Amino acid sequence: MTNRPLVAGNWKMNGTSASAAELEAMGTGYDSALADNVELLICPPALLIAQLGSQDKIAIGAQNCHAKESGAHTGDISAEMIRDAGGKYVIVGHSERREDHGETDADVCEKAEAAYRAGLIAIVCVGEVESERRAGTTLEVVTKQVSASVPAGATAENTVIAYEPVWAIGTGLTPTPADVAEVHASIRATLIKRFGGDVGSKMRILYGGSVKPANAKELLAVKNVNGALVGGASLKAADFLGIAEAYRG
Ligand code: PEP
Repeated sequence: MTNRPLVAGNWKMNGTSASAAELEAMGTGYDSALADNVELLICPPALLIAQLGSQDKIAIGAQNCHAKESGAHTGDISAEMIRDAGGKYVIVGHSERREDHGETDADVCEKAEAAYRAGLIAIVCVGEVESERRAGTTLEVVTKQVSASVPAGATAENTVIAYEPVWAIGTGLTPTPADVAEVHASIRATLIKRFGGDVGSKMRILYGGSVKPANAKELLAVKNVNGALVGGASLKAADFLGIAEAYRG
């Protein structure tokens, strides 16, 4: 048995204090029958974590953290600060962080370790770029990222993997369900080999990249897909709930 599926929203650099109304609308549509089947998480800009964390229906997380607990790191926030503000999760190694800030697998691994240190759950992102998909090296690339970005101390409770093909993020393009199944099966095998069947078979593996209400049911039904990481469609309650509805029994 894996953990309860997770549908996570990444608001990126979008949202202000007025976004509390959107979160409230999400909470209203997230009834107890849906909550039995799926956990919902929103990762807003860090400035909103404390404010949005004041409700308890939808978990709140961060989009990034520094590896250290405190110190001279202007503009950064630590995992401990996220926890103190009421965050439960932190996304690490999103492709936009890897690309815009040059984050390596080793950096991502340190950030995930920081998450464990602070008692947060790390969502470790991996995924190939378009040229790697075209070259047929997707499985190789993703296996290497999972091996190098996920710390030795990972468990099914403190870690979630998010497979996000970079070419599918924000583009409206998605891999076929068969392609998603192939990559998720490969990630599952990598996790089981490294952490054993008990941990590796239970760790949640999310799919991310242009998930919307219209394609959620098909993508979330794929074997070894234990939820979604959603960008654009997590900004509006109707879209985000429309994706979560794929889990209504
Ligand atoms: C993302 O950035 O993690 C993402 C999946 O974005 P989108 O859903 O907009 O493709």
